[in-house]
Amino acid sequence: MKKLIFPLLLLFITISSAQTNQKIYDIIEAVSAERIENDIQTLVDFGTRNTFSDTISNTRGIGAARRWIKSEFETISSDCKNCLEVFYQKDFVTKEGNKRVPHDAWVVNVVAIQKGTKYPNRYIIMSGDIDSRGSDTMEFTKDAPGANDNASGMAGTIETARVLSKYKFENSIIYVGLSGEEQGLFGGGGLAKYAKEQGWDIIGILNNDMIGNITGVDGVIDNRTFRIFSEPVPANETERERTLRRFYGGEVDGISRQLARYVHKTVKTYMPEMNPMMIYRLDRFGRGGHHRPFNDLGFAGIRIMEAHENYTQQHQDIREENGIKYGDVIEHVNFEYAQKLTTVNAINMASLAWAPPAPKTVAIGGIVEPSVKFKWDKVEGAVGYKIYWRNTTSPTWDNSRYVGDVSEFMLDGIVIDNYFFGIASVGKDGFESPVVFPNKIMR
Ligand SMILES: [Zn+2]
Repeated sequence: MKKLIFPLLLLFITISSAQTNQKIYDIIEAVSAERIENDIQTLVDFGTRNTFSDTISNTRGIGAARRWIKSEFETISSDCKNCLEVFYQKDFVTKEGNKRVPHDAWVVNVVAIQKGTKYPNRYIIMSGDIDSRGSDTMEFTKDAPGANDNASGMAGTIETARVLSKYKFENSIIYVGLSGEEQGLFGGGGLAKYAKEQGWDIIGILNNDMIGNITGVDGVIDNRTFRIFSEPVPANETERERTLRRFYGGEVDGISRQLARYVHKTVKTYMPEMNPMMIYRLDRFGRGGHHRPFNDLGFAGIRIMEAHENYTQQHQDIREENGIKYGDVIEHVNFEYAQKLTTVNAINMASLAWAPPAPKTVAIGGIVEPSVKFKWDKVEGAVGYKIYWRNTTSPTWDNSRYVGDVSEFMLDGIVIDNYFFGIASVGKDGFESPVVFPNKIMR
């Protein structure tokens, strides 16, 4: 009997280790809180990064900040045999017609692209913001350190480029510093439009905006919880899609929501100490972020963010009033927490960049039957497919079945009415695409 147990145990270990990938643990190890701190300090030291601030000085203002970010990406690139294509993408905004634009200016994003080996035109994007603001967003000369909002997201993006540039990916990765966020999401709008014009096939954007504060205005101190914001369904869906949803479901299953679930699942698997909190909204109540312009054009996009904000430390001039110290200064940033949230990005960017494309068409059927049938288009590079399902009230894909390299399958004993379903592609190293909610009905 003993002889049998040993090989069985070995088999069990082999199978269980196949659920996770060592490369992801290596990436977790590689992200540095110290480098994030240094980069936030450098960004803060530009005094203000208001989009309309000085562009000539080499020590102060948005111009100096974006030149430094570009040179940082170029340094990273030279350390990986020029694996990054680094460039400015810019759009001109005018005072006329824009209430929050103090003068005409170029809104300049800094883009670094790490081309994929197999699907160079498929992109997963990570963004932070270059720009900052004080109490009055029109005021562009006063100090506005923007340490948490949003040097933290920018530093996290640069650090992720450092870590992931050591690897080769099948899909392309874009690391980008966006500008003009505070006056109207101009930089994100410009890049989303550029992406559409270039015909980029976008897997999604992970927008990082404020990833370094653990002390909330509500008094809660929490260095483990963070938020993933996602809109329920695409903003540009058609009237027909909306009508079909009433009868076939999908109210909480748009592409951005699937991306949010993907991030939630990856974190639960690889960073069990963290507490990812999916928020079922586009963004905070009545407020915005740079994932939105991508959502507007129908791209999947989410916002990754601290769980507890502190409003005396964002969008505030540095001052003291009634014993309260206002201002977004570096003293309030927790670098270990920023490191954790950067790691959340890095492992998800890597997983998605190593995964095959998701199936485009997924058909589902099973009306008045004790089983559910599926049919999907096979995708190049997938070794198999996984069917996911969940109770209609559950936020996460709780049940799954790997069905191998087939393009149709019947789940027996499951009644279609009582669950939501989806399908993901699985690549040879076990990396999965986001789940695709069925988009076609079979009779
Ligand atoms: Zn802000």
